[in-house]
Formats: sequence, C-alpha cells, structure tokens
Amino acid sequence: MSLLLLVDLDGVVYRGPDPVPGIAAVLAARAAAGDDVVYVTNNSMHYRADYVSRLTALGAPVSPDRVVSAPRATALYVREHEPDVRRVLAVGASGLDRELRDVGLEVVNAGFAAERMAKEGLDGVEAAGAPQAVVAGVDPQLTYLRVAAAADCLRAGAVFIATNRDPVYPTQRFLRPGSGSIIAAIEVASGVTPVVIGKPQPLLLEQAAHAAGRDPKEAIVIGDGVLTDLAAARAVGARTILMLTGVTSPAAAAALPEEERPLATAADAGELRRLLDAVASGSST
Ligand SMILES: [Mg+2]
Repeated sequence: MSLLLLVDLDGVVYRGPDPVPGIAAVLAARAAAGDDVVYVTNNSMHYRADYVSRLTALGAPVSPDRVVSAPRATALYVREHEPDVRRVLAVGASGLDRELRDVGLEVVNAGFAAERMAKEGLDGVEAAGAPQAVVAGVDPQLTYLRVAAAADCLRAGAVFIATNRDPVYPTQRFLRPGSGSIIAAIEVASGVTPVVIGKPQPLLLEQAAHAAGRDPKEAIVIGDGVLTDLAAARAVGARTILMLTGVTSPAAAAALPEEERPLATAADAGELRRLLDAVASGSST
C-alpha cells in the first residue's frame, strides 16, 4: 500500500537557504515507488509557485497541488467551510492574497483598506467593502490602521481565520514577530477568537491529506518540530518521523514523554530512507 507522506519544509527538506543533504532524493524515490508526497508549511507569506520552483531545483517531487502551505490550506478551508464568504479582508503578505484569489474569493488587502480609512475618513468595514471574513498571517507592512480595519470588520460580524499562531518568524539573521503576534493584536482589539488553520492545529494536515485524496489518519508526518509537526500529527491521528535536521536536538528528542514520542527519529536522509522502506514493506513500525 502506498504511503502518504506529509513533509514539513524548513528543517526537513531545507534549512534556511541550504538543502538538507539527500532528503529530496529520498522523497523522489518514494514518489517513484507510488507514494503520495505533500509538503506542509506554516509559513504564511509565500505563494505555492515559489515552493514549486525551489523544490524542483532541489530535485524533490512536486506539483502545485502538492504544496499545502498555511495560506493555501486557509483558502481551501474558507471555500469548503464558509460558503457564504465572498469577500475577504486579508492582513498579510502577497502570497496570502494570491492563495485566497485562487479559490475564487474577492480579496481586499488591509493595506488598501487602511489607506482609504486614512484618506476618506471611513471605518474599516466601509473601507474594505463589508467583507464576510478576515484572514490574517504575517504582514511585514502591518500598521495601526490595518489592525483597526480587521477589528472593525470582526466587530461587524466577519468570521476570523488565522493562518497559524507561530509566535515568531525566524529569518536568516533575526527572530521577527510571527503570525501569532499579529493574530493576538487583532484578537485583543476585536474580542474575537479566530479559527486557526496551521500546525499544531489539525486543519493544515487535513487539507494536505485531502489534496492527495487521502485520509489524514493514513499519513506519516515528517517534521522537525515537536510543538508543531508532532502535535498536529497527534491531533489528526497520524504517525510521525521526527527529523533531527532542524530545531529539535537529539537530547530533546530523547527526553520526550512517552505520549509525545514519534514513531521514529531520523538523524539524516539515510536513516529516513531506511525507515520509510521499512514502513512501506510493513516490516517495522
Ligand atoms: Mg520545520
């Protein structure tokens, strides 16, 4: 039976700008053997095409429908679960806008709404054209009026959907505020708590499994984060392989309590390949 592999990106396939050696080739071999490989990331800023070109360059098997980022999963979620939503106020980067437009939603960026509020003296609801939803992720251009626009729309009854609650966003040189920091500002200002899509919540992994036409319970989640990848996998009942190529040290992995332990840990691509071969042939758990 073919495997469903839900593969985290940063810390697994690459680490910042550098590929993790051998991982793309392991995934290519599994895809050639008939497995479904879907990439999952909490990153809320990029459009799928960005990942497709990067992964293709690394030699990893990928097509646009097999990249389920937090913005993509958020867009799919809105389309599936919020059929009355036509217009969305988006607090985020251009990748979020594009993913929402791709599923047929009309997107008003919070920057546009904030400009109208300032120039025309409007409230956020008028400035954004009364959207039925507010969607938020990392917005590197965040301003006071963008938060005000989102809060106005939420107080007027729009539904609130967050890409994820990551507190920080690590860049190559700095830790920057993550989606969770921006969500918190909007949440406090509006008094409205969002539906959260990204890991450790289950919805991102659910959408990723559905992208391959599969049940998330069948998945093997391959990730480097205990509080994100492993927790989300537990929430959907999936098995996990914890990679030691990212944020989790061997000592931290060894110290995990019984109920948080992965199916297996892998220090490198060679170990991952052997583990997946064993799982695929049913000879090991
Ligand atoms: Mg990671």
